[in-house]
Amino acid sequence: MSADTTARSRSGAHRAHDAGFVLDVRSLGRAPGSMRELRRTVTTPERLGLDLIAVPAGSEVELDLRLQAVSEGVLVTGTVTAPVAGECSRCLEQFTDSVEVSLTELFAYPDSATDQTASDDEVYRMDDDLIDLEPLIVDQLGLELPLQPLCTPDCAGLCPECGVRMAIAGSDHGHEILDPRWAGLAKFASGSPGSGSPDKGAATGDHSADIARNSTEEK
Ligand SMILES: [Zn+2]
Ligand SMILES: [Zn+2]
Repeated sequence: MSADTTARSRSGAHRAHDAGFVLDVRSLGRAPGSMRELRRTVTTPERLGLDLIAVPAGSEVELDLRLQAVSEGVLVTGTVTAPVAGECSRCLEQFTDSVEVSLTELFAYPDSATDQTASDDEVYRMDDDLIDLEPLIVDQLGLELPLQPLCTPDCAGLCPECGVRMAIAGSDHGHEILDPRWAGLAKFASGSPGSGSPDKGAATGDHSADIARNSTEEK
């Protein structure tokens, strides 16, 4: 039992507690095949995710996991489910959703061959008898969450002319873009009878152009 004593005294130097995303797996033992189910709801103190979409701070993250002792460490499998809040990359609206990520990850024992031979970013490691799931969950959320989230899969985005959300504006929303050449032509046509007198033509030209514009809008 000297190994146990050593482990206990070493873990005592850390904030050794089984809470939040930190699992104390001492009770699992190291006999390969030893297994434990773990269900836990963790209120995350931090926002977890990407710039446009993430699990907000204060959200309840559901862990539904199986911990299995293997020769090199503890294999963690299962799912993590959490609410997410995002901003649509097309229409910029805020939206909420949920995300489920699957975990299948080895946490290597501190003194295992895997721990000795693998580089820091190749494998997750146990800290004595503790497994910190947070880095793994952050990594998996990064893979699972979309870089360009959408409020709905068929989000129509914003009107390129006026910026209104197309979901609000409706499908018949559009803009009649007055062609400046055409407008000039209408003015010329209506103003032509008075073109002989510059003063009179200038005075009536604007007015008749207004009439021409009104009549074209009514059609
Ligand atoms: Zn949208
Ligand atoms: Zn518009």
